[in-house]
Amino acid sequence: MTRARAIELAEAHLDSGDLLRELTRKVAYPTESEADDRDEAHRSYLRDEIVPGLRRCGFTWRLVENPVAGMPPFLLARRVEDPALRTVLVYGHGDVVRGDAAGWSEPWSPWRLVVDGDRWYGRGSCDNKGQHAINLAALEQVLLAREGRLGFNVTVLMDMGEEIGSPGLREVCTALADDELAADVLLASDGTRVSERSPTLVLGTRGEVSFTLRATLRPRGYHSGNWGGLLGNPAVLLANALATMVDARGRILVEGLRPPAIPEPVRTILRRIEIDGGPTAPAVEDWGEPGLSAAERLYGWNTLEVLGLDAGTATGPQNAIPGTAAARCQLRFVVGTDWSVLERTVRTHLDAHGFGSIDVEVDEGTAATRLDPDDAWVSWAAASVERTTGKAPTILPNLGGTFPNDCFAEVLGIPTVWVPHSYPGCAQHAPDEHLLASLAREALGIMAGLLWDLGELPASAGG
Ligand SMILES: [Zn+2]
Repeated sequence: MTRARAIELAEAHLDSGDLLRELTRKVAYPTESEADDRDEAHRSYLRDEIVPGLRRCGFTWRLVENPVAGMPPFLLARRVEDPALRTVLVYGHGDVVRGDAAGWSEPWSPWRLVVDGDRWYGRGSCDNKGQHAINLAALEQVLLAREGRLGFNVTVLMDMGEEIGSPGLREVCTALADDELAADVLLASDGTRVSERSPTLVLGTRGEVSFTLRATLRPRGYHSGNWGGLLGNPAVLLANALATMVDARGRILVEGLRPPAIPEPVRTILRRIEIDGGPTAPAVEDWGEPGLSAAERLYGWNTLEVLGLDAGTATGPQNAIPGTAAARCQLRFVVGTDWSVLERTVRTHLDAHGFGSIDVEVDEGTAATRLDPDDAWVSWAAASVERTTGKAPTILPNLGGTFPNDCFAEVLGIPTVWVPHSYPGCAQHAPDEHLLASLAREALGIMAGLLWDLGELPASAGG
């Protein structure tokens, strides 16, 4: 058996209709993690949809109850061929965002997979059921092609709470880092390629932390005709404070909220990337840090956003100076930003600018991650994808968005290589979510190629 045969077998999984039948079943499970009565759907999805395929491949498995009370369990499955071999960790999530049936265009709906040309519509079709179905199918076909051997060990970790921030994932990774979750590399798929045609490798994520600035001057409003000029206005105070933090072009003015200079290897990669959100996307504007390309601003820099403002009632003002004002802010940040001291950074800045009366409340955040683009795993994966598709993949040092990759990169301490199988127009997290069949076919080949090549990799190579 050969590499080419493994790829053929994987592509045949789509051509035969098997992937469509499989995904039709998977999409029918209403595994919304934001709803609170989905425990049975979550457990059944793992036991009845994921476990049978893994058992065919010789995995042992167990459900890991979530250490956070009331949160869904994880599936942890392992296939140990030889403890001396390298271990790859494959992560996926079986939960989905809300179905939102009313929002879908006829005849599409969240829980029934409908094929329309190249598009397979259904909730979870691309985020993430389609993507992990592709990866596990490719694994099974490589195992067939190698006649029952892989040449490496595999651990599969399936999360059922990713869309609500993966509660418990960090605790589970911490508890099992030296045990069942010990691995040499993470190979996983979620999110989208930079464009439909370009296979993409993603090496990390931006981090995210939200905080509220609150000016509480007095418990109620006072008539502006009687008190204007005598009482401070919290909304004016807040607007001025914000203006000292981010300028009118979106440039961050607080030194501690700005990232370090973009490392040269990252810069080299980002220079080649065009932002292509598809035909319905808004045009990129001249916003943010001056002198950077759009890709550098999205993937290589921090952004400070005001997500919401609250003072008085804008639609029906009462001729009163409001008593309080609040701004909901968010920092998206890249590796190298010391976000753990965010509260102190903002506090010091506000005090220095005379805004000592504004309070800062910081939420929990998620760390940024980025595998060094010069890491041996990156060149290995890129060469494999190019060999399979004839296309050099786009390498994204990190996503613009955030997911808990820090659990793998930091807690488990392993290199993370993400291979997304969707595209920017897929409508994930919105009505009319869909997977592209042509892209899924290519993805089956890419994953079969990667998993075949992993079995050929000498024990000392690749990191
Ligand atoms: Zn998602």
